[in-house]
Amino acid sequence: MMAAFSPKFKRALRKAGRLECCEVCGWKVPRLANKGLDASHIVSKNSGGPERVDNVIVLCPRCAVVFDRFLKPAIAKAFKLCNQNKQTKYATPKDWATAEGMRARGDNI
Ligand SMILES: [Zn+2]
Repeated sequence: MMAAFSPKFKRALRKAGRLECCEVCGWKVPRLANKGLDASHIVSKNSGGPERVDNVIVLCPRCAVVFDRFLKPAIAKAFKLCNQNKQTKYATPKDWATAEGMRARGDNI
């Protein structure tokens, strides 16, 4: 959530032009200061993700839910299947398999 990031961090995102619209669907609400957008960690702090602009994705509320609840677990499952043949070794953040981001926001999952 944006509240988790410092003003300096948000300024860096804004300066990089990353707070203009949802980076998945393009949605924005121009009349809101934050355009209805939140920055979400790609790899959470609990999984060792750094506090850097290249470790966040700017999402609208709908895409944030889809990302945490469905995409991360789906990718984690796909990586697990790929790794079973031992020809690949994808490192999957632990929170991707558990929808940790949803719990961190207090969402009911
Ligand atoms: Zn979106």
